[in-house]
This record gives sequence, C-alpha cells and structure tokens, in this order.
Amino acid sequence: MKPQESILSYDRWTLTKSSFVKGRQCAKLLHLYTFKRNEQTPVSKELQKVFDRGHSFEDYVRENGFPGGVNVKDEVSKFGYLNSYTKRVLSEPGSKVLYEATFIEDEVLVMCDILTKDQNGRIDVYEIKLNKELNEAIWNDLAIQFTICKKRFGGALRSFNAILRDDESGQHWTEIDMTEQLDLKVNQVQDQIVEFKNILENQEPEINMGEHCNKPYACAFKEYCTGLKRSV
Ligand code: SF4
Repeated sequence: MKPQESILSYDRWTLTKSSFVKGRQCAKLLHLYTFKRNEQTPVSKELQKVFDRGHSFEDYVRENGFPGGVNVKDEVSKFGYLNSYTKRVLSEPGSKVLYEATFIEDEVLVMCDILTKDQNGRIDVYEIKLNKELNEAIWNDLAIQFTICKKRFGGALRSFNAILRDDESGQHWTEIDMTEQLDLKVNQVQDQIVEFKNILENQEPEINMGEHCNKPYACAFKEYCTGLKRSV
C-alpha cells in the first residue's frame, strides 16, 4: 500500500471504457470479457507489436507535447484508488497535467490518456490513437470517455480531443477537437450504459457468430464461441 492510499477512498465500478466498447460490438463479448476473461485467446505476437507501438506513440506524444505530467497509475497500487487520487490532485490549486486521469461516474470507469487543468480550472482532455483516421471504434471509445468526463466536470470541460498519428515515423500528430460532436452522443451513451449494466445482471446472452465477430475488431472469444457451437 502506498502512503497516500490511507486517505483515499477505494471505489468500485461495473463497466469500463474497454467493456463499453466491447458491448457496442456484441452483448456476449461484454459478458465474457467481464466474467470469463480467461477464456480469451491469447494476443498474437503481431497484435502485441501493434499494442506496443501504440504505447510508444502515447509516450512520445506525452513527452513531446504535454511534458512533466503526473502518471496517476504510478501513484497508487490498486485501480480502486485511481478515481479518488485523481479527484484529490485536481482539487489542488494551479494548473496540472495528468496522464491516465481516472474517473468513475454511473459505475463506469474511464482513464484519459492526457488531461490538463489550467489556472482557472478549465479541463482539456486528449485521447491518443495510433490510427491516422477516425473510425467507429474510436468514436465509441471517445463517446464513453466524454460522457463520463462531462458528468464529472460539467461546464468546466472545455474540450475533448483526439490525437491521431500523422505519418509512419510516429513523431507528428494532429489534434482534432471532437467536443461538439461528442456532446450530441451523450444521451445515446447514457441509454447504453443502462442497457449494458442490465446485460451484466443476467445470464450469458445467446448470440450467434457472424460479421460482428470481426467488426470493428477480431473478437478474442471466437474460439470459445466456436467451441460452444461444436458441443451443441
Ligand atoms: S465470437 Fe462473436 S458471438 Fe462470440 S462473443 Fe465474440 S463477437 Fe460475440
């Protein structure tokens, strides 16, 4: 236990950004990811390389565009303290740069790649993607983060931005202000939060495999679902 944890609250959650995005793809995927994660097919070497490249790009953007931030994940030993720690740091006066700032609202946990607070308490959030263009999965990812951040900060949330890679070198990027478009998605996201919690309160849903198993991502439970089909 880290020293500051004695004064932090340990918070719980039902959904995360990742599980929300999975729920958008398939209700059964949401259920399996939450309750049977060990049934996933391990990540291939090729996919792991893509993840590693994404993390390197994140580090590069942080170091070169938003240096000197506090990485919230490094400051506490358990996920349950991240929300409380973030709240505490942001309540301090003065400007801040945080990496992995974490918020739980409506039992949904989201972590923001970069969050800045200026002297007047205005908040800007930046989500870093290795992609060069926006796609459906990125929209879903940003929409749930925005909805939770909006609930936490209200009018103090000044902007919500996507940072996309500009070239193969990974040393240049574009910032896109998504605030207005994401604001239009809040009601839909709130309805889906209720729907997804309901799915998790029930038995594993029965869903046939189909095109959705590869869209927008190749599902990690395909072997599991195929196995069930064989055993029927
Ligand atoms: S393999 Fe297809 S049906 Fe099974 S959980 Fe994944 S997306 Fe859903």
